[in-house]
Amino acid sequence: MKRLVWLIPACCLVAFGLVLQAFRQSRADMQASPRIAIAGIAIESSTFSPARTEEAAFYTKYGADAFSSYPFLSPDSPLRQQAIWIPTVVGRALPGGVVTRKAYESIVSKTIDSLNAHKPFDGVYLDIHGAMSVEGLDDPEGDYLQRVRKAVGNSTIISTSMDLHGNVSWRLAKNTDLITCYRKAPHEDALETKERAVTQLISRIKSGKGKPAFKAYVNVPVLLPGEKTSTRMEPAKSLYAAVSPAARQNGITDISVWVGYAWADEPRNHAAVMVTGDDKEKTLQIAEQMARRFWDARADFSFVAPAGTLNECLAKALISKQQPYFISDCGDNPTAGAPGDVTWTLKQLLARKEFADTKGRSVIYASIPGPDLVKKAEAVGVGFRVSGNVGAEVDHRFSGPVRLSGIVRAIVKGDKDAETEVVVQAGSVNVIVTKKRKAYRTRKDFTMLKLEPLQTDIVIVKLGYLDPELYAMKAGWMLALTPGGVDQNIEGLNFKRIQRPMFPFDKNLRTPDLRAKLVPLSHE
Ligand SMILES: [Zn+2]
Repeated sequence: MKRLVWLIPACCLVAFGLVLQAFRQSRADMQASPRIAIAGIAIESSTFSPARTEEAAFYTKYGADAFSSYPFLSPDSPLRQQAIWIPTVVGRALPGGVVTRKAYESIVSKTIDSLNAHKPFDGVYLDIHGAMSVEGLDDPEGDYLQRVRKAVGNSTIISTSMDLHGNVSWRLAKNTDLITCYRKAPHEDALETKERAVTQLISRIKSGKGKPAFKAYVNVPVLLPGEKTSTRMEPAKSLYAAVSPAARQNGITDISVWVGYAWADEPRNHAAVMVTGDDKEKTLQIAEQMARRFWDARADFSFVAPAGTLNECLAKALISKQQPYFISDCGDNPTAGAPGDVTWTLKQLLARKEFADTKGRSVIYASIPGPDLVKKAEAVGVGFRVSGNVGAEVDHRFSGPVRLSGIVRAIVKGDKDAETEVVVQAGSVNVIVTKKRKAYRTRKDFTMLKLEPLQTDIVIVKLGYLDPELYAMKAGWMLALTPGGVDQNIEGLNFKRIQRPMFPFDKNLRTPDLRAKLVPLSHE
């Protein structure tokens, strides 16, 4: 009995010792784990669109909510275990018009406040797009990087991931230590790219290597729309396929090739190459090789699909046996920065006699915002006739609101972007009308509205190049060169501030200076 009495405290002591040891171990781990902040602001905004983007459009996530944007940082993921993560403020908007100064300042000041409140950091991961335009502010991403750098200090390693349609200013290049961008358009590698930015950041911190010793930069004076530079087609296909193997060489940390963004009028808008690494010669050499390759291919970039006027596209689609026949209503593509409410195409479509009768070739038109019509459709319900005006609330430069009359075929609520979606059948055309703008990019976007693109003759989408699911569904496809905020005829746009000479705006160009320049390190 006496022995038992002694045994209990002894057990307690052993247990206490184990708990203490575990506690000490976890504190040691915590101390060994780097502190890494996450922040980001991303939008592609056209300065050739009358739309303005407000703060709400960024769907900003604060603190731990931001983890949901990064599946590779899920609680059980290996990357999550390797650092103490401090997500701060991450905003990502649908492409759109110029961001108001108020919205930009609000998001950035909240970011800086949060970084100040939680610093110091060993690293910062920045998730940006690179083609944001802000009222009265040049090079917003350069400004953002500079302000983040000032907040976190020079010893913190900043790793930035970007869209390949982003633009890289010297200021941006200087203030980031690691930088990478997508290697595929459409951007099937978006998450992979962000994960690479994070993995490299952790690796440079944990290995003690710190910032790469060299950052080489080449300005390539070429400005082309995304629809001519898809990596599904040559020459972009081979050019971008060469990036990953080249980046695996010893002495190289990463290689990024930016197409740039064609619908904003700033000196930073053009193609660019950056290589980071610890081997000076290789870093410079690879940057120059990539830049030279891009420049030499400049005249070979062409549209990802046959292109023509809307009438030419409809004529081809009407005689085609390929079903579904996709037509991209390119000029008003909201995924490239247009408002998505231009009625020019819809107006012509509804005027065509081929589609006036319900027995005509079946058409889906995706989509047009029309909040008033949505309200009316909700009031009458599915199966009943509705009529009202749609579109041209934001961009009415090419065509005014369109009177749409037809039978309500579906009403669906709850989409993050559209909020409410309505299908109205007018003749043989099913028009998707939304409360707020939305891009239709997957099969489910249609099937949830009881529309089946695979059984439809002609599917017209406000997109440029097709996203993977639509691309897989298409039997025929043309790009309709329609008017809008992201007009594909960029040579016809009124650029005033881009660098000149620039391909394709200036003819008979001499070979530009494609020598790589070493960007000063962020602490220099
Ligand atoms: Zn892009």
